[in-house]
Amino acid sequence: MSSVSKVACFINGEERLEDNVFEKFNPATGEVAALVVESSQSLVDEAVMAARAALKGPWGKATLEHRVDALRRLAVLMQSRFSEIVAEEILDTGKPIAAVATNEINRAIANLNAFADIALSERIEPFRTEMANGASAINETVRTPVGVIGIVAPWNLPLLLLTFKVAPALACGNTIVVKPSEQTPRTAVLLAKLALEAGIPAGVINVVHGHGANAAGSFLTAHPGIDAISFTGETKTGEAIMRSASVGPRAVSMELGGKNPALIFSDCDFDAAVTGTVRSMFDNAGQVCLTTERLYVQRPIFDRFVEALAEKALALKPGDPMDPSTTMGPSISAEQQAKVLGFYERTARGGATVITGGGRFEMPAPFTNGYWVQPTIWTGLGDDAEICRNEVFGPCAHVAVFDDEDEVIERANNSEYGLAATIWTKDSDKASRVARQLENGTVWINCWRVRDERAAFGGFKKSGVGREGGSWSLNFYSHPKTICRLDG
Ligand code: NAD
Repeated sequence: MSSVSKVACFINGEERLEDNVFEKFNPATGEVAALVVESSQSLVDEAVMAARAALKGPWGKATLEHRVDALRRLAVLMQSRFSEIVAEEILDTGKPIAAVATNEINRAIANLNAFADIALSERIEPFRTEMANGASAINETVRTPVGVIGIVAPWNLPLLLLTFKVAPALACGNTIVVKPSEQTPRTAVLLAKLALEAGIPAGVINVVHGHGANAAGSFLTAHPGIDAISFTGETKTGEAIMRSASVGPRAVSMELGGKNPALIFSDCDFDAAVTGTVRSMFDNAGQVCLTTERLYVQRPIFDRFVEALAEKALALKPGDPMDPSTTMGPSISAEQQAKVLGFYERTARGGATVITGGGRFEMPAPFTNGYWVQPTIWTGLGDDAEICRNEVFGPCAHVAVFDDEDEVIERANNSEYGLAATIWTKDSDKASRVARQLENGTVWINCWRVRDERAAFGGFKKSGVGREGGSWSLNFYSHPKTICRLDG
């Protein structure tokens, strides 16, 4: 145990270790991977005070150009420390290196440059107002920082999702206190340290660790020194955080859960639809908020499609995260593994046909005690079954048959969630028609998870409150101020 590393908080430019720590396990092996500080209320107070003080320092007076330069320097520095960041992310998550090194960390870095571009390219034109006495005034709306942003982040795409919030928050001139997931504490600290190295002043990014309810998460979101809260995580956690935010009250941005449908029409490009759908079901072991967990396949291709999905699911290769040929990682924790296996067990007991999977992977040493679960496909249940309604956040989906367009739109919309949907068809008129009727924040046509930071991102219904991405992020992380001056 003595050789296990400690993960410190990072407050006002300094690492802070405390005696009160919790064990963080490596999901691939089940072994203790780190001892992480469980932040006390007073440590969270210090982090918020540091962020408030930094608002009054040079960062608070910095120009947009200065802040954007800092973001770009941070991106360059992250690129130069790429392998270290990849290794830290893998240690926390057990994800395959192929996914982390080719996709996630690149996109985390890209977020910094993208929001630098977005903030710089935005022009809010002043306008002239004619007055009754014949004079005129110029109205100019400028963006000012909101203040201290509390960011509470999930574990599924740790640095990628964190930078999607940190980059626009910094571009707008705010300071930040981050509470990363207790499952993935490392890369948030690394980001804060690199930011300091890149010339972003101490206190601008602070990181506190710990659990959520009655711990660091709620200490932060209930803190009166926080001016706005940006949260990504489960819907029920979002509800608790909105209650905290109502005292003050403070603005919230909520990126929440999903139960995302794929609508696969018989006129699709069959191979592309199978390949794309397999990705959308099993990437990151199904631990993406945008994962497809409900499939509706049109009757003429149903059997063939299910068979093709199963074949590809069986070809996924769990294993050593550092082996470039590994294509599937574990669940993030023993609790998440148990949650997913609970769904597997209840779904089979509820009468589903298990097409493939349905249990845990038996893995060789040293991965025997890791949190591995099999990619799983079911058919045969009605839309009211638990597996068709509740988010699993694991590598699994139920595949149902449909006959016509109106029917599938209604069934896809019959959900408490509304984050994302995918449509597969070669008929572009039909695709556009269906996309307009779906109640989802993002609809992909013949593709999945193609993201552009300039586009609006967020969910309908219980999948979110507000939007981030592009100018939507700038709107959340800044206060518009109108300055009206008499002309002449
Ligand atoms: P979670 O809600 O359990 O935890 C998220 C964060 O909230 C963690 O840092 C946790 O410590 C903290 N937290 C928990 N309870 C809290 C409380 N009472 N007060 C303050 N903080 C609290 O979510 P998770 O398991 O980390 O992530 C998975 C969930 O996130 C899934 O539902 C997934 O769909 C969702 N998600 C959504 C998006 C999106 O963009 N919509 C993206 C990724 C993940």
